[in-house]
Amino acid sequence: MNGKSGFALVTGASRGIGQAVLERLAGDGFAVVGTATTEEGAMRIGELLSRHGCPGTGWMLDLGRTDASTMEESVRGFETTFGPVRVLVNNAGIARDDLMLRMDEEAWQAVLEVDLTAVFRLTRICLRTMLKERWGRIINMASVVALSGNPGQVNYAAAKGGLLGLTRSLAQEVGSRGITVNAVAPGFIETDMTRALNPQQRERLTDRIPLRRLGTPVDVAACVGFLASPGAGYITGETLQVNGGMYMS
Ligand code: NAP
Repeated sequence: MNGKSGFALVTGASRGIGQAVLERLAGDGFAVVGTATTEEGAMRIGELLSRHGCPGTGWMLDLGRTDASTMEESVRGFETTFGPVRVLVNNAGIARDDLMLRMDEEAWQAVLEVDLTAVFRLTRICLRTMLKERWGRIINMASVVALSGNPGQVNYAAAKGGLLGLTRSLAQEVGSRGITVNAVAPGFIETDMTRALNPQQRERLTDRIPLRRLGTPVDVAACVGFLASPGAGYITGETLQVNGGMYMS
């Protein structure tokens, strides 16, 4: 990994897209710290990494309940063990869908807190190290709905749209220090988030996708792996769409 020590931090790495990203970055030679909301989930991440003989560990982190100073203490602790944080993948996200008129403020706040505000907090913490090192890769997991909109998801689409604005603005702030900031915008991917779809919904959805299938976590992880690689060193402020062609812009 660019001949440097250090580690990649992946939030929401216990399942779905985050787990595939963790495996991809570990396979690419990064030490990886992956987060889960439970101790058990964090332990499973640690076990997965050691099964593959990869350096790294799990971290129990609930982005909706952890303040910045607690997060910072943990990140500095991992840096003592693995060296500076090199790559940050802000992957963890939640959805609390409802039509606008029925959506209560709690559902709005919860999604904004985890999907956007916590990204601001954790990114600031990692950025300090990256600025000192004059190298870093920040990759934010957005969504196709940040671009297309989606009925029933005003909170989620607002948070993910905000993430794209954060991505472009931060890219301009830190580009001169060797740090790239990009987003990945997946379409519909086979994970727990989309498993709730019934067969009719799934068929209607697949009909709208030119590649005629839902994506896989590995499809998304491949893009994250690319953005973290030396080959993507001249790409910043960009949003990579991974949606089988269901939305093109
Ligand atoms: P998922 O299968 O539902 O997994 C969510 C991950 O986030 C889990 O590791 C979960 O940890 C963690 N997480 C949940 N709440 C958290 C919190 N409060 N604090 C910290 N971590 C939390 O999700 P996914 O489908 O892989 O989605 C990953 C990302 O891609 C999300 O940002 C999502 O919005 C985005 N995305 C997904 C799709 C899709 O179709 N699946 C499409 C577009 C974008 P636990 O296991 O401990 O609960």
